[in-house]
Amino acid sequence: MFKSGRHFLQIPGPSNVPDRILRAIDMPTMDHRGPRFSDVGQKAITGMKAVFKTEQRVVIFPASGTGAWEAALVNTLSPGDRVLMYETGHFATLWRTLAEAVGLRPEFISGDWRGGADPEAIEEHLKADANHEIKAVCVVHNETSTGSVTQIAEVRKAIDRAGHPALLMADSISGLASIDFRFDEWGVDVAISGSQKGLMLPPGLSFNAISDKAVAVSKTARLPRSYWDWEAMRDPNDKGYFPYTPATNMLYGLNEAIAMLMEEGLENVFARHARHAEATRQAVRTWGLEILCNNPKHYSNVLTAVIVPDGHSADGFRRTTLDQFDMSLGNGLSKVADRVFRIGHLGDFNDLMLMGTLSGVEMGLKLSGIPHNRGGAQAAMDILTNSATASAAAAE
Ligand SMILES: *Cc1c(COP(=O)(O)O)cnc(C)c1O
Repeated sequence: MFKSGRHFLQIPGPSNVPDRILRAIDMPTMDHRGPRFSDVGQKAITGMKAVFKTEQRVVIFPASGTGAWEAALVNTLSPGDRVLMYETGHFATLWRTLAEAVGLRPEFISGDWRGGADPEAIEEHLKADANHEIKAVCVVHNETSTGSVTQIAEVRKAIDRAGHPALLMADSISGLASIDFRFDEWGVDVAISGSQKGLMLPPGLSFNAISDKAVAVSKTARLPRSYWDWEAMRDPNDKGYFPYTPATNMLYGLNEAIAMLMEEGLENVFARHARHAEATRQAVRTWGLEILCNNPKHYSNVLTAVIVPDGHSADGFRRTTLDQFDMSLGNGLSKVADRVFRIGHLGDFNDLMLMGTLSGVEMGLKLSGIPHNRGGAQAAMDILTNSATASAAAAE
């Protein structure tokens, strides 16, 4: 059926791709071994170091985020290694399944899907590992299935308090470039990210940031690897090239995305996400609905997962917003299927896009017969107008 106007893609990734990035991708593909390519590759790698806030290594794969998840594990670990993971939600669970599939022995600290990882539980678990058999602690920074954030710096401190040498790995596939991430300062050893969330690109690129310690560990790690091998990337990357065909046009788009992030300023990008997230949460509270994340310190500024009242279907509600308002909202995954819907407020986004989104949600709640109070969208507008004055004054 014909739909006029722009589709509202308010899932928490893939996010909206700005026109500037679409234009940058829409260029002739070039010879990835030719002289002009070197600049493209070098710019992408250097730019991503700034986004990760690292002076250590970054590698770029032509793959979805899952590829970089696998790369993190197979480059640093050996068959049968124990790794500590934390059940923050669906994505943490998928990463554990991947770890098992490549021959690791993950230990999973169970969680209730309503907050980030608990650093104290990680510390206790590591203290019990007196022989240091656990080789890595793997946590999801922004758990996209629940809208909860793990405090990565706190996890680092927990590992250090336990006096444990395990590597710290952080999946920031949906956190990077939307909420603060500091690879070097937080002492992360391997970070994982992807193109289609905060980086505002289509799906298809993924990233590892790698500490010197992780590089050293990779020399003796014995899991089989070929496509994902960091070592094979090193020499070509130094000159802006890749060991196999990179996703050339996606790299044009990545360089444009990095330029946009730097023009706005990363700290301003994070503040924008924080402001939109707070307005969204205020709308949800006004509707009288419950936010899945129940620890305000762990609220995600990337997305908000909302619980629908018992006896109502989140998927039915999402079908209504799609049919009536041409808006895609995120679904509840596995354990929370049909129980929650997720509002993505990340990437290329502004006040009126947020208000379109929240108005669509409020109208959808009414059309679906989900009990709620009116005025959520108004409450969000109040937050936006109050903070607009503050930011306009600050800009002068
Ligand atoms: C999207 C996402 C993934 C999966 O990435 P793909 O690009 O779908 O492979 C993993 N972890 C988190 C936290 C994500 O948000």
